[in-house]
Amino acid sequence: MTILKRNWLKKETPKNKDISALFKELKKEIPVIHQQGEPPLKDSHSFAQYMCDLCSTPYPKSGLRQCVLCGRWACEHCWKEEFYTCKSCAGIIKIHTLK
Ligand SMILES: [Zn+2]
Ligand SMILES: [Zn+2]
Repeated sequence: MTILKRNWLKKETPKNKDISALFKELKKEIPVIHQQGEPPLKDSHSFAQYMCDLCSTPYPKSGLRQCVLCGRWACEHCWKEEFYTCKSCAGIIKIHTLK
């Protein structure tokens, strides 16, 4: 996994630079749902489960990741590894990168 990621980063360096510049722009544009480091919402029906902010499905905390742009907590289905953001922000990134 670590090796894969390193190779990927190496190959994609020019694109990654664009992405980080784009992230700066997008941070002004995308409303922040949760501050970075803020915990996900607890599922009111079960203990030790948290809600995915996108599909409202309960997951253990380890199953959720926080989007670096909007701060939403996303489950594996709502997460885009490509941009390290939630599905919703990835859609916005795609629109911007297509321009
Ligand atoms: Zn989800
Ligand atoms: Zn997001």
